[in-house]
Amino acid sequence: MDLWFNERNTDTCNLSIKIKNAIYSEKTPFQKIDFYESYDFGIFFTLDGMMMVNEKDEFIYHDMIVHVPMAVNPNIKNVLVIGGGDGGTVRELTRYSNIELIHMVEIDERVVRLCQRYLPQTSSKLEDERVSLFFEDGVKFVKDKKNIYDLILVDSTDPIGPGEGLFTTEFYRDCHRSLNENGILINQHESPYFEEYRVEMLKSHEKLKRIFNICQVYQFHMPTYSSGHWLFGFASKNLHPIRDHKAEEWEKTGLDTRYYNSKIHKGAFALPTYVKDLLESV
Ligand code: SAM
Repeated sequence: MDLWFNERNTDTCNLSIKIKNAIYSEKTPFQKIDFYESYDFGIFFTLDGMMMVNEKDEFIYHDMIVHVPMAVNPNIKNVLVIGGGDGGTVRELTRYSNIELIHMVEIDERVVRLCQRYLPQTSSKLEDERVSLFFEDGVKFVKDKKNIYDLILVDSTDPIGPGEGLFTTEFYRDCHRSLNENGILINQHESPYFEEYRVEMLKSHEKLKRIFNICQVYQFHMPTYSSGHWLFGFASKNLHPIRDHKAEEWEKTGLDTRYYNSKIHKGAFALPTYVKDLLESV
């Protein structure tokens, strides 16, 4: 029997992946978690039917969420990751010896435990001694923090269900206050292509622009996310992603990366005209 995973992108467009096995399924108080084994993407997991992470293309997302800000401020020491239960973002952060502390706040402990069981490729560094795990709502976690972090990475689901609060003005304000004077916030910024995602992209950009001095968006190619064209937001108090890009310093780290490099860093901020126009319209 043919088994296919289908993710709705629009009412008339699906992402469809043929699977070898349905490995595991569980409903938690927050969301439904499913693990599958596929032919083209290896093991992957979904939350409420949406592709999160797979063995084949996860390096793209995790390279771009971590190495871009690290090449702008190579002195980052204290990092907060919100969401990111698969551990891929933390894995990339632990490659930097100058990072001293990583707080990861994930609302759903089951995502972490199941990724530790089925996706060691991303979760293997969650036990690094610099990492502290907090199983709580990221929205609440940042409420009482002030001037603590050099970098906040919002590695979240889409703005429905538990991820909704991570796209609000109040949350962005709390992040701004939790960052120190050179602080950088990177957030999962949705996609410009299909209407439903585009609306969320614009809302997020509009809110961030009201709060942060510097507010840019950068793109990457993610084969298994809706339309394959995805964005991160780069918001900061002082540091500009291109003017303050320290390519030579980053290259001296000698880190071996499969997607990120210094040319991609610059190129990722060069947006297609329709995306630039959309962002400038808010
Ligand atoms: N890189 C993938 C992506 O962007 O689709 C995966 C992101 S990671 C799996 C998203 C995580 O955010 C999920 O594990 C989810 O439980 C967590 N999450 C959602 N809302 C949250 C909240 N309010 N506080 C903390 N974590 C949250």
